[in-house]
Formats: sequence, structure tokens, C-alpha cells
Amino acid sequence: MENTLLLSAGYEPLKILDWRRAVTLVLLGKVEVLEEYVREVRSPSMAIPLPAVVRLHRYVRRHPQRVKFSRQNIFFRDEYTCQYCHKKHPTSQLTYDHIVPKSRGGRTTWTNIVTSCVRCNLKKGNKPLSTLNYRLLKEPEEPKWLPTLSQFLNVDSAPSVWRAYLGDWSAQSNEA
Ligand SMILES: [Zn+2]
Repeated sequence: MENTLLLSAGYEPLKILDWRRAVTLVLLGKVEVLEEYVREVRSPSMAIPLPAVVRLHRYVRRHPQRVKFSRQNIFFRDEYTCQYCHKKHPTSQLTYDHIVPKSRGGRTTWTNIVTSCVRCNLKKGNKPLSTLNYRLLKEPEEPKWLPTLSQFLNVDSAPSVWRAYLGDWSAQSNEA
């Protein structure tokens, strides 16, 4: 069965829902249906077209969901750019680096880990930043975004009715 694309009140793609969940949200009046599939879901008392794209009615302030701390998300935050030599690299040439080396008590956290190319990483080794010529491209922070759709959605295989709503997101994921 088809899935449903959920948009925020501001038309931003949020996530992909199982159609049952989407139908529930529609019936509860939580979302507005923007696009429908031809196929219908039927129960003894009614039939409604399967929602293809739905949009939340309200700006929902959810508990701030934290971005998963992972290698991919570090690269994404740093835009695949080595924070030491300030150059973009393919993922195969990227690694991550502890700014304050682990051996000196540096922790594995958003603020102490940056994207580094393999070369800079080797050059830096266990030396503290202050002894090198490196200047960080930007101060590393815990990201606020959730890179859900932009990273995981394969736009080519997404239902065609979704495309208009994916807009720039698809361009972004192709570039990455
Ligand atoms: Zn580098």
C-alpha cells in the first residue's frame, strides 16, 4: 500500500507516514489532505481516498527532538567540508576528528567533533589545535535540524504526486 508524505504547517516535508497513520490523522482532523491517490480505503461505513500528501493544521511545538549523533550527521552539519582545510571532499575522503584529542580528555560530542579530510586528520594527529596552523571553519554546535527527509528520501522513487512538495530538497540530496 502507498505511504503518505506529511508536511508541516509551513509546507516543509516532515516525514513519511504509513497510510493507516495518515488516515487516522485525517479522521482526527489533525491534517488537511493536499493530494490523494486514486485508491480508496473502505470500512463498512465509509470510503475515503488514500491521502498522498497531508499537511499539519497547526505549527506543532514538539519536544525538541535531538539530532542523532552520527558520522553522517556530522558530515551533513559541516556540509561535507573539512573544518581544517576548508575544502569540500567526497565522503570517502572524510573522517571526523576530535578537536581536543581523546588522549587529552576530549569528548565525543557535537562540540568537540568536526568533519576532517583524511589528510588533515593525519596531519593533526593527537596535537592540540593551538599548536597547529588550523583555524576551524566554524564553531561546532549541536544542530537544530532533523535531516530526516533530505537525507533518506530517494526522490526518484517517491510517488509523483509528492514531487511538487519536495522541491528544493531533492536538489539538495542530489548535490550531496
Ligand atoms: Zn582537510
